[in-house]
Amino acid sequence: MINKARMRILLVPFLVLILMALLLLAERTGLQFKSEANDVLFLPKSVTSIMRAEQEDECLMLVDSASDITLVFRKQMEDVLDSMRIGYDVVDASSNSLPELDKYRTVVITFSNLDILSDDIMELFEWVDDGGGLMLCCAPSPTTVFQVIKQKLGILESGYSYVNVEGMQFTSDFMIGAKGISYMWDTAWEASLGVNLLESCNVHVTSIGDNSAPMVWDYRYGNGKVVVNNHSVVDKGARGLFAATYSLLEDVIAYPVINSSTFFLDDFPAPVPMGDATYISRDYNRSIESFYSNIWWPDVLEIADKYGITYTGVVIENYYDSTEEPFTRNMDIERFSYFGGMLLENGGEIGIHGYNHQPLVTSAFVYDDSINYNTWENMDLMTMSLNELVGFTKSLFPDTNISVYVPPSNILSNEGRQVLGTRLPGLRCIASVYVAEDIQFEQEFEVSADGIINLPRIIAGCLIDEYMEWAAMNELNFHFVNNHFMHPDDVLDVDRGAALGWEAMKKDFDSYLTWLYDTAPTIRNLNATQAAAAVERYDYLSVKREISDSKYKLSLGGFYDTAYLMLRFNNGEPGKVDGGTIEHLEGNLYLLCASQAEITIEIIK
Ligand SMILES: [Zn+2]
Repeated sequence: MINKARMRILLVPFLVLILMALLLLAERTGLQFKSEANDVLFLPKSVTSIMRAEQEDECLMLVDSASDITLVFRKQMEDVLDSMRIGYDVVDASSNSLPELDKYRTVVITFSNLDILSDDIMELFEWVDDGGGLMLCCAPSPTTVFQVIKQKLGILESGYSYVNVEGMQFTSDFMIGAKGISYMWDTAWEASLGVNLLESCNVHVTSIGDNSAPMVWDYRYGNGKVVVNNHSVVDKGARGLFAATYSLLEDVIAYPVINSSTFFLDDFPAPVPMGDATYISRDYNRSIESFYSNIWWPDVLEIADKYGITYTGVVIENYYDSTEEPFTRNMDIERFSYFGGMLLENGGEIGIHGYNHQPLVTSAFVYDDSINYNTWENMDLMTMSLNELVGFTKSLFPDTNISVYVPPSNILSNEGRQVLGTRLPGLRCIASVYVAEDIQFEQEFEVSADGIINLPRIIAGCLIDEYMEWAAMNELNFHFVNNHFMHPDDVLDVDRGAALGWEAMKKDFDSYLTWLYDTAPTIRNLNATQAAAAVERYDYLSVKREISDSKYKLSLGGFYDTAYLMLRFNNGEPGKVDGGTIEHLEGNLYLLCASQAEITIEIIK
């Protein structure tokens, strides 16, 4: 017995040594590490096979079929309301009188010429006086009806001309991460009507320019609320602004969000990037290969550590441009094992990008003149190349589930999309872009009919320009989401900041991250598969809202295990919460984490 006990004691350090040796070996070969993403559960079929419930009508959207302006603002509001899960009716005010207003909580006007409402405008304001919420989506025209009712919009006096706007200044905290921030436009234009407001208006955005004008305000009229967008900013990147202005209309409002912050490294791991080494030699006196291993990668990992983020790297097997057989295996695997292994070790995920960097399009696809890519003859060749890529990736990282695909250069044709949806079992998510340039593949945060989850990236690179800052701020408010990608070869490309040098690029990226995590310190840092599972949970939700003097009740359709909602208290403060927890974000905005489908929030006034 004694001998056995001693033997065990001796064996312990010996076994520890062997274990350490094995771990070191595994690290060197990159074979051992399992992605945490594999632990995330996608929704079971029992949830996804049920259609999302129809929303009850809460909003009346008035359009003017004779006006072009209406088209863009109608589209914008439809996208925003759909995403917020607000049901709405659309009525053409140019040919119909107002429907019964009492069944609606809000009315949104998507045109600038209020004259088409003629006498109906009085009925509309009686309804606001009784407690309704009215929103103007765009700068009003100084027409006869406008002059008659402008005081009801909170306007003391107005001219007949528009002021030249060079940019927007956020003066309140009605959107998270925006207060005090200004966004300059590339071109100034006469976007806002020159007005002076009554003192009781809450101004949220003012214009930048010689004659400043209020661009967004709210005004309490009787028992109701008026919100005016005195501008014509309307694009996909501005949806957060419209969601925020809409959410000022009622005493309390909640809408589903994703709650996810995700970072992609495109072309990683991949062969050593080819490109202009001028600035690497200038600043580091090293080869490109040595720069990536010894400078770039340690820095990129340090940033991840600083903010608690993980990366999703997407593999490119080679940089040849052939789209024909044979798709031979890349045997030069050392770099892949090293970077991929460390990526996984640091909690990251590995997805796929391409056998090579030729986008999955056939000859019917029309490339930009500036792009020199090949096309694929058919879907079978696309499939074969992807199968080779999956086989290659699996041979290096056998325990990794490959569920995420990023299209090379964010380009993907219908045929390529079909291949990904039908011929790659296990693939669950495509991550392209949220706002497409030219021929890029544009996506929404949603689940496609074939079950593929779309996880569009919002911004890219280290140098975050004004438009990207704007889009990032909007999406943080709209979906409570950050989705960013960068390429190792950003450092080689002058258009992406190479001449500034990596140190300056890194600093710029770091200042974006500082803004992001100061604004949303508890946003969930997820890798792509986890974020896709979060999108799935978000997409199936429907929301039923009931409000009384003391309670705000939410019933969530399509609820699975957890749901997140942005919550705004325009009147009162949240008290006790049943069915979830809430966390203060900024101003009167809160994040609600629902742990069950029925949530009741006490309203303290
Ligand atoms: Zn790429």
